[in-house]
Amino acid sequence: MTDHVLVINCGSSSLKFAAIDPISGQAALSGLAERLGSPDASLNVRQGDTRQSVSLAEGGHDAAMLAVLQLLDNSGLSAKLSAVGHRVVHGGERFKSSVCIDDVVEAEIDACARLAPLHNPANLIGIRTARACFANLPQVAVFDTAFHQSMPAHAYLYAIPSALYTEHGLRRYGFHGTSHRYVAAEAAAMLGRPLNDCALITAHLGNGASAAAVLDGHSVDTTMGLTPLEGLVMGTRSGDIDPSLVPFIGKALDLPADQVIDLLNRKSGLLGLSGLSNDCRALQTAAAEGHAGAQIALDVFCYRLAKHIAGLSVALPRLDALVFTGGIGENSVWVREQVMKQLGLLGFAIDSAANARCVGGVAGPIHAAGSRTALVVNTNEELLIARDTFALAQS
Ligand code: ADP
Repeated sequence: MTDHVLVINCGSSSLKFAAIDPISGQAALSGLAERLGSPDASLNVRQGDTRQSVSLAEGGHDAAMLAVLQLLDNSGLSAKLSAVGHRVVHGGERFKSSVCIDDVVEAEIDACARLAPLHNPANLIGIRTARACFANLPQVAVFDTAFHQSMPAHAYLYAIPSALYTEHGLRRYGFHGTSHRYVAAEAAAMLGRPLNDCALITAHLGNGASAAAVLDGHSVDTTMGLTPLEGLVMGTRSGDIDPSLVPFIGKALDLPADQVIDLLNRKSGLLGLSGLSNDCRALQTAAAEGHAGAQIALDVFCYRLAKHIAGLSVALPRLDALVFTGGIGENSVWVREQVMKQLGLLGFAIDSAANARCVGGVAGPIHAAGSRTALVVNTNEELLIARDTFALAQS
């Protein structure tokens, strides 16, 4: 019986995979190959409670994919695979939903690489390698940007000369679409309402972070923009800044513009503000011990998040629920409490005991009686990729 989907998330030097049952969501085999192309390239694999590490020596993506193929063969899963699903970061305006991959689609994903030069080429390596290794299986692309293609023009346009959009495609695209879409559906189920009659704000708070306004199952605005740098404060990204900071930082540190952007992507956010760590949990511990940098980093993170949630509310006719997800959203009792406190004007109040219970995979409501609804929902991007892939492969 062909009942599993191989989900692949390929980075420039990494390859994450999982063989998932798209009905139950169970991963029969999963793993992560890291440091590909370097002498210590390795593949860490998990099957049930068993974990193993395989050295790939100097191996690149091909070697990693072949090792995955071997593992699938050894565990009898190869014959059960019905399709391969790929996470692709940027689908531009071309891809408004997931799609079966053929040569034309592959070329179009390549064309979108100008909008995501660090991500799409890596995703394409995964697609090309998998198409070669699993030539008899349908392959599907699931895009981070696709869910936000429903945003209206007044939400996706920058107020810059319009030719920069019409001739160069420079607009807001948004990311984390797979997660926002997944948790919106889960939240609707939790509320007992049909998704097509739900007004939600979803906050995906991981190392990267974004929030979205989701109306009747469609994204109508989100905090990330042309790239994932816009919007919320993140682990290492600044989020929104005055664009004039770019030349000011360049002058102050004698850096060209591309290195300033790199600083804003990799050395800013929680890490830059705290001078300590990009990790929310580590910062909470340090702040509790009196580390002033950790405290101000967390304060800026929460304030910016609350401010963006309030901003997104103008995209909705009403607000049925605020949804927290991602590593921080699913686990940080403290962050959720701060954010809810700052959203008092929107009618939010927290139930501290319910909030404290929602950690480590426990989902549920965290608002007090009489408050507007707030939920913790566990995201599962891989499951949504598996479901889309399975559905498209059947059609
Ligand atoms: P990624 O975007 O890499 O998938 P995750 O969604 O796993 O990241 O989120 C990672 C973040 O979640 C880190 O900042 C981590 O500190 C935070 N996190 C995980 N558990 C907790 C916790 N119990 N309390 C606070 N933050 C947590």
